[in-house]
Amino acid sequence: MISQEMLALGKKSSVIREIFEYSKVRRAEIGDENVFDYSLGNPSIPAPQKIGETMQTLLREMNPVDLHGYTSAPGDMTVRRKIAESITARFGVPADPALIYMTCGAAASLTITLRALTTPGDEVVLLAPYFPEYQVFVRNAGAVPQTVCCRPGDFDLDIDALAAAIGPRTRALILNSPNNPSGAVFSAQSIERLADLLREKTAQIGHPITIIADEPYRELVYDGVEVPYVPAYYDDTVVCYSYSKSLSLPGERIGYIAVSPRMPMAGDVFAAVCGAGRSMGYVCAPSLLQHTVALCGDVKPDLSAYDRNRTRLYTALTEMGYEAVQPKGAFYLFVKALEENAASFCEKAKQFELLLVPSDDFGVPGYVRIAYCVDYERIERSLPAFRQLYAAYNEGK
Ligand code: PLP
Repeated sequence: MISQEMLALGKKSSVIREIFEYSKVRRAEIGDENVFDYSLGNPSIPAPQKIGETMQTLLREMNPVDLHGYTSAPGDMTVRRKIAESITARFGVPADPALIYMTCGAAASLTITLRALTTPGDEVVLLAPYFPEYQVFVRNAGAVPQTVCCRPGDFDLDIDALAAAIGPRTRALILNSPNNPSGAVFSAQSIERLADLLREKTAQIGHPITIIADEPYRELVYDGVEVPYVPAYYDDTVVCYSYSKSLSLPGERIGYIAVSPRMPMAGDVFAAVCGAGRSMGYVCAPSLLQHTVALCGDVKPDLSAYDRNRTRLYTALTEMGYEAVQPKGAFYLFVKALEENAASFCEKAKQFELLLVPSDDFGVPGYVRIAYCVDYERIERSLPAFRQLYAAYNEGK
């Protein structure tokens, strides 16, 4: 026998992956330059030079037995100390190396944290639109995802909808800012209102509601926008961080979990994180990468290429007549589909070799996600296709 649940999950890949696979076939058929694949959030800018240099120095100078050996299960203590120092220096809040757990990226950070915090049947609030894998991660922990939509106009938090949805079974809420797929960045004022609501609800229902702050896009913001650091606003917070996007290292699988020292029973929460990591085999994150990010934690990515893509695509599409909210962060543009059914709109877009992701798996109908982490020239070449797609829906109007 095998697990039917896992069999079903393994057989059905995510929509994003399906489109990406289709793209590979199509590129082979008509040439790479003729396919406008906007499906995958794979960083298109190289990792900062300091990453490679640091790896080379570590390989040259560090004792190889230490460098390639097991670290402690939650990660090397010198690495965790450096990360804690960086958190305190950047955000002005306490951080404790003994409450930091090194992981293989945000996906591992989230699955570990969800397993640590929830018991079967607990509800976890997902703010739609959301990263589709949250559904899988929450269910894997035995918890129940509960979707609450953000405001359609600007995708900011809808505090009234949250107030109505949070109940006695609510255990946690996943907050992703900058957001995949909307590009929204929640303001300090929005986070304050959310924190007030959660404190009020915690008092009412008699048990804690934790914010799981999923932050792989923290450094990817434009126009000087600030990303509030959630633990500064709400004590009961676990930060799930990843270097996949900020340092263009998604294939290297490195990130961390930071339990806020202000969190009630922080020590026990961290012990549960260690237990969850252990039970899922997520121990001793890659050692070379741990040491590398510890030395490069404050390296700033050069966002000019993403910013240029963002501006060009947003301006061009809205001028053509598409409706979209200008993204403040991450590298996604969330555009209203030109028909109600986003999946059939994406099928139509394929006729013009535009590969877009329908929003249904992000928890909202009627939109498409465009991952603009691609070459600028590809964006330029794709604009006539977007124009033709728009015309296909509007001819004769
Ligand atoms: N969370 C969000 C919102 C994401 O967009 C992604 C990846 O695209 C992840 C988590 C997973 O990131 P990682 O590659 O670090 O596991």
